[in-house]
Amino acid sequence: MANLFLFLGEALVYVTIMITLLHLRHRLGLGVFIAALGVMHFIETYLAAVFYVQLPFGVISPGSAVLFSGKLMMILLLYVKEDAATVRQPIYGLLVGNFLTVALGFILQQHETVSIVPGRIADLAFIDEMGWLMVWGTLLLYLDSLLIILLYERLGHRLRRFMTLRFFLCGALVLTFDQAGFFIALHAMNGAPAEVFWGGWLAKMGAAAFYSVLLGAYLHFSNHTVLAVSRRPIGDIFNDLTFRERYEDLLSRSGRDSLTGTLDRGRFEFDGIRLIRNAVATGTPASLMIIDADHFKSVNDRLGHPEGDRVLKAIVSSMKAHLRPTDHLFRYGGEEFAILSEDLNAALALQHAEDIRAGVEAVVRTSDQAVVTISIGIASTPQDGSTLKDLLSRADAMLYQAKRNGRNRVESGIAS
Ligand code: GH3
Ligand code: MG
Ligand code: MG
Repeated sequence: MANLFLFLGEALVYVTIMITLLHLRHRLGLGVFIAALGVMHFIETYLAAVFYVQLPFGVISPGSAVLFSGKLMMILLLYVKEDAATVRQPIYGLLVGNFLTVALGFILQQHETVSIVPGRIADLAFIDEMGWLMVWGTLLLYLDSLLIILLYERLGHRLRRFMTLRFFLCGALVLTFDQAGFFIALHAMNGAPAEVFWGGWLAKMGAAAFYSVLLGAYLHFSNHTVLAVSRRPIGDIFNDLTFRERYEDLLSRSGRDSLTGTLDRGRFEFDGIRLIRNAVATGTPASLMIIDADHFKSVNDRLGHPEGDRVLKAIVSSMKAHLRPTDHLFRYGGEEFAILSEDLNAALALQHAEDIRAGVEAVVRTSDQAVVTISIGIASTPQDGSTLKDLLSRADAMLYQAKRNGRNRVESGIAS
């Protein structure tokens, strides 16, 4: 019975300190919470390997029941309070730190040591006791962490108003998975008997319940501003967690212009800088076209803005019909567009732009059958510059020249 109270005491101390650190993360910095989490990981693995006590329902280690379960719940809480991009930092840090510990432990054991306190000899045997178990446990923790967050999101739609229950289900399911995985190793390496599995499992369920209540209470009383259901698709969250996330993918969902469906100005700047940098780095040519509709104000003035909008969409679909797979079309501003063309040198860009211009002239008409035209200015790497900024100002100057030379024209450095 005394053991049971000790467990409860340990869990309470652990969760109180960790939640406090997390709560104060804006004042202390998140590093304090994460470093504390990392330090606990070492002792917890050691305890889970060798430190067991008898409870009424089985033989349990505080390492797994209190500390490991607690850490998993803390990782979930960190995700709830922050986001996937933040929580993946400790997840990967723990993974790398553990492999490093085991590797260093192996090297340390090769030392010939001396005794500096009479009768006391350094005993690194504990590294043997936990080495492989630590590697295995760490891999499991990695899977557990991903699982618990994905599960949390999955349960979000049904349980958005029952945070404590949601925490408990996540904790209980993932800790069951973990217990099975950990026991297999413990049994194979240390010959642990079956009662260790059941005792440990019960203790983890108890821990899941205990921590869920405390976490739920914390969220309730800290007037949290937590999104009960993340607006992001589960696939995205997984990608964030596993470092496969592509920020561009995120942007591709939000970076579209609502009228024409093309990528917007924000995307132009984000993609453009990268694309030009890549082109320069790999020595492949790239071209930028700046496109402006001719006398567009008069379309609006004559026929009204809705007709102007329709014409803008018609210009876009005509241009799209001429794009190569490696062209990227953006709405740069009102009736101005930009096309970034990978792998297209100045001479080819001039021809290509001419096709696009002729295409618009051939098919786009206003409601009163007036011909709609565009003017295009081009700049290309390497001759016109090696940054997006250089190319923009050069292409802009070329556009201005096209306007001055009568509109419905393409101008580039080699055309003049
Ligand atoms: P220029 O040939 O010199 O380009 O003449 P312009 O009349 O096209 O001149 P400018 O490019 O300065 O005019 C931009 C006009 O485009 C102003 C605005 O009325 C119109 N415009 C910009 N955005 C939109 C839009 O989203 N919808 C509509 N209908 N019109 C727009
Ligand atoms: Mg304009
Ligand atoms: Mg214009």
